[in-house]
Amino acid sequence: MASSYTICVLPGDGIGTEVTDCGRQVLDALSGRGGPRFDYDVRPAGYYTFLGVGHSLPDGTLDAAKAADAVLVGAMDVAQIPPHGGDPLGGLRIGLEVSASVRPSRTIDGIAGPTNDIDCVVVREVTEGLYSRDEYMGDDDAAYAVRVVTRKASTNTARMAFAQAMARQETYGRPSLVTAVHKVGVLKLSDGLFLEACADVAREFPEIAYETANIDTCAMDMVRNPGHFDVILATNAFGDILSDVAAGLAAGLGLAASACIGERWAYFEPVHGTAPDIAGKGIANPCATILTVAMMLRYLGEDESADVVETAVYGVLEDGKIRTGDLGGNATSTEMTDAILSSLKIK
Ligand code: ATP
Repeated sequence: MASSYTICVLPGDGIGTEVTDCGRQVLDALSGRGGPRFDYDVRPAGYYTFLGVGHSLPDGTLDAAKAADAVLVGAMDVAQIPPHGGDPLGGLRIGLEVSASVRPSRTIDGIAGPTNDIDCVVVREVTEGLYSRDEYMGDDDAAYAVRVVTRKASTNTARMAFAQAMARQETYGRPSLVTAVHKVGVLKLSDGLFLEACADVAREFPEIAYETANIDTCAMDMVRNPGHFDVILATNAFGDILSDVAAGLAAGLGLAASACIGERWAYFEPVHGTAPDIAGKGIANPCATILTVAMMLRYLGEDESADVVETAVYGVLEDGKIRTGDLGGNATSTEMTDAILSSLKIK
């Protein structure tokens, strides 16, 4: 009998609401053809939720996320939410006790990116660092942001990076490399602690090569020699920037998926934001969310379904007949999703 899962869906704001619908259609198509079954618990979170109920992550939403087998997030307009409205993504990450986000980027056949030589994963700490939201004014002319780095979150993130490296070593049959990114010459204490935690974890994985790189050098090398990188391990803000660099070098934000997996809970979201410039027009690329759904299926142990979804997405992209605007075409989100649904080859 097929397994059955409850997915807590937080569509959020902007294109988040549009692309999560596309992701659900793919899950429903799997169910309809004898695959796993999914129930959805759709919950409010984000800027419009704040406008409606005064908080961007209501308690009921976090409770539902914890009660579900996995959480699928669209995108949230965090920038518009004032401090008293809460931080929906930060609250979700802390509430679900996830500290690392895994963001793969690779060249895709048929999609011309700036390079054809990138296949890496950025593993980014997501609860602290420069985004710890601890800011204050010293006086009218001086603003301060506290960069928090803890051994616990750094160690968890490093463990996730090395686990990714082990998995990639097995999948690709070639040695893996973890590159820890820092600016320790300037941020001596915070990046000093981060690197110490990373080095401790590296010693637990003698089979994986390990190096460190300055953030500025790493950004330049990613552009000049992307093939060098395998797993990039970074604090919050550096990882945010480098995962967009990696996505840009591959095929853009429209294809960039991510997973935040902790010991008890996990949530899955495309790397992109709410894209206000195209929201409501029905033209967002749903592939990032559909590939995110594939990551969620793998987390749930549904590897076969995950393979089916990824093969369908990459097949449609390679075929090239149906493409959204970000990939140079003029297909709508619905047309792109329909093409993927028609390509699902369930055994
Ligand atoms: P955030 O700060 O929330 O990550 P952002 O400001 O980095 O958001 P995005 O909302 O991710 O920005 O959008 C950046 C650009 O990429 C915009 O021009 C947007 O239209 C485009 N974009 C993002 N996601 C998609 C998508 N799924 N399909 C097509 N274009 C997209």
